[in-house]
Amino acid sequence: MRKYSTASNMFYTLKLQTQFDRRYPLSFLALLGLNLLLPVLATLLPTAAVAALTRGGSVRTYMAVVAGLMVLYAAAAYLQAALKARDDARLSRFYSECCMGLVLEKCITMDYRIQESPEGQQMRSAAINVAGNPAAGGIHGMRQQAVVWTRSLLVLALYGAAAASLDWRILLVMALMSAANTLAAGLVRRYESRTRVDEILDRREYDYLLDHAYDPANGKDVRLYRMENWVLGVMTACFRRRWNREKGRFRRQILGDCSDSVFLVLRDLIAYTVLANAVLSGQMDAAGFTFSVSVIATLSAHLNAFFSTTAYLRFINIAFNDFRNFLEWEDPRRQGGERDVSQVRRPPRVELRNVTFSYPGQETPVIDQFSLTIQPGEKIALVGLNGAGKTTLVKLLSGLYLPDSGEILVDGAPLERFDAGAYFQLVGTVFQDVTPLPFTVGENIAGRETYDRDRAWKCLEMAGLREVVEALPRGLDTHLTQKMEREGVDLSGGQKQRLVFARALYKDAPLLILDEPTSALDPLAEADLYQKYARETADKTSVFISHRLSSTQFCDRVVYMENGRIAETGSHQELLERGGAYARLFQVQSSYYRENKEEYDEEI
Ligand code: ADP
Repeated sequence: MRKYSTASNMFYTLKLQTQFDRRYPLSFLALLGLNLLLPVLATLLPTAAVAALTRGGSVRTYMAVVAGLMVLYAAAAYLQAALKARDDARLSRFYSECCMGLVLEKCITMDYRIQESPEGQQMRSAAINVAGNPAAGGIHGMRQQAVVWTRSLLVLALYGAAAASLDWRILLVMALMSAANTLAAGLVRRYESRTRVDEILDRREYDYLLDHAYDPANGKDVRLYRMENWVLGVMTACFRRRWNREKGRFRRQILGDCSDSVFLVLRDLIAYTVLANAVLSGQMDAAGFTFSVSVIATLSAHLNAFFSTTAYLRFINIAFNDFRNFLEWEDPRRQGGERDVSQVRRPPRVELRNVTFSYPGQETPVIDQFSLTIQPGEKIALVGLNGAGKTTLVKLLSGLYLPDSGEILVDGAPLERFDAGAYFQLVGTVFQDVTPLPFTVGENIAGRETYDRDRAWKCLEMAGLREVVEALPRGLDTHLTQKMEREGVDLSGGQKQRLVFARALYKDAPLLILDEPTSALDPLAEADLYQKYARETADKTSVFISHRLSSTQFCDRVVYMENGRIAETGSHQELLERGGAYARLFQVQSSYYRENKEEYDEEI
């Protein structure tokens, strides 16, 4: 992960905002100008008043100068407040539309392997925190402090020159003050860097627990298994760890505040002695004294503001790098490959050559030198015990993962030669963990807002769900789940599986991958769906995973997997006759079903 400097990230934020809103640099400069004008006017106002009174001017001159400056000051203050309010409003659009939009876009388009990895999830939650949580500093802080910091820097240059012309010792104390400040801020920053990973992990744990505690789906288990105290205990412990870290930070910050107080007294002592001497010796009049006091006070205030803003910006920057690194995370998948998906024959021939794949941190590969050729239109049943690597293999075939070594060829072309996004057009999938999006039935089937309604109905019919949807209050336009629509409906597990089958049919992709597509169905519904699969997928190359071995009978070939390799392959009948692992598993399952059926018959 790259570590960008605070200045680099500050420019990055300004650039991002300018790309989002072309008028932004102008509003930044106007705000900066007014922010600079206000302290200058605040210094000039008392100086001019005293000068008008003591340098022989009339009361009218005094009134005119003071009133003029006050009007100017009030106008500038009003303009600054109005501009800031407008800027804040624009900023909140910038965070939600641009920054959160970028994080969301990255999340849903990034390499799936990265997205599901613990590191990917950790970076995602850190990026969301930076983009969407102003309380945590993030982009909000970076953008707002950029104005304050630049203003302080300009004031320091301007007023520093004026103070230096008074007495070099005043500047020396201020320089010492700055050095002590930098040292103290360094202590805080080192502590924050050291504890940052713990902070992210605790925040993730806390958010996760909170989400799960709120989710009614978990409410049943939490109550029935009496997990309330346990969940609350874990959350409290997490909260305390975060609080202890905060205390550590406060302690280090206090050091900086103490040094500030000491230097402040020293500065005032020197400054006022120097100025009093100048007045007493007649080198400075009352207006000069007023001006000098104001210069020193303003310089000192902005010096403090400069250092506290610098420290804060550096603090924000630690987390900010997560946001930028997340957005810039390089995608290992190929973009814009030279192979055109429209040229792929339907149905395609798919070949896996010595494919090997491991998850991060695993020593033995999950898929190990796996080779298999699937002929155009062939239906393969992929079976094996839990953990054999079936789901991983279909994720490789779907293009969600790339092999560590070996090749996957689709219609003779290696998968890497296709553009990553375009390749997904070739694949229709039905995974077992079905979660419809909280949109309408029709939108869920088509995967977009506008779609061919006749075709959607036809696919529902083929998937055996037409009657159910016809009975819904608004048919295809009925919302699924009540998350976004109060009148939304929830489908049963089996209905959801039929819905995603309809979606795969709507997509009409030439390569169909079904991972336990009937796990939530009762045996009758399952048999019905198998027949539909067999009928509707006749023109597709398909791979089908199932635990129920009887279902493999509608496939042309069975591949029995063990430890990421092919242990047996052949037709269902051939494998039974061979009497190997597949046949043994089939016998165990059949006898289990037989026993259950006998018990059931006896009960009847
Ligand atoms: P199957 O579908 O045959 O049950 P999987 O492909 O799901 O097998 O899993 C094969 C092995 O890979 C298992 O040991 C599982 O724990 C591991 N595994 C699966 N998914 C992940 C993942 N996202 N990260 C790490 N390990 C995983």
